[in-house]
Amino acid sequence: MRVGIGYDVHPLVAGRPLVLGGVLVEHTSGLEGHSDADVLTHAVIDAVLGAAGLGDIGRLFPATDPRFKDASSLEMLATAVQAVRAAGFRVVNVDCTVIAQEPRLSPHLGAMALKLAVGLETGNVNIKGKSPEGLGALGHGDGIAAQAIAAVEEV
Ligand code: MG
Repeated sequence: MRVGIGYDVHPLVAGRPLVLGGVLVEHTSGLEGHSDADVLTHAVIDAVLGAAGLGDIGRLFPATDPRFKDASSLEMLATAVQAVRAAGFRVVNVDCTVIAQEPRLSPHLGAMALKLAVGLETGNVNIKGKSPEGLGALGHGDGIAAQAIAAVEEV
C-alpha cells in the first residue's frame, strides 16, 4: 500500500464555466486555466500519480501542449489512472477537500464523487466542501483550491 497527496488552486474569472470533479456547477464565474481548470480533478490526478511514484500532472500533461487546451480533466484522470495501472498499481481510495467561499458545494458532492469514481475505477471516493470563512484570497472568492490524498496497492 502506498499513498500520495495532491493540491491545486485556480483563479476564478468571469466568462468561464465552473467545472469541479467533472460536474458543471452553476456560478457567476469559473476557473481559469489551460484545460477546463477542474481544480478538484487536478488535485486527485496529482494524488494518484504521487502514490504510484509517477511525478505530477505537469509531467503527464504539459500546460504548453495545445492538445490539452480546454481538455476535459476527467479524461486526463482516466489517462493518469491508466499510467498508474501500467506501473503496477490500482487505486484503493481517494479522499479530497474543496476549499471555496462560493458557491455552496454540498448539493454537488455526490455527483462529483460518482464522476471521479468512474475515472479512478474505485467506488471509494470521498469529497468534502470547506468554506475558507472569508479569510484570505480564497475567502474573497479570488479562486478555489483542492486537496486530495490517494491510496494505491500493488496488483
Ligand atoms: Mg490545475
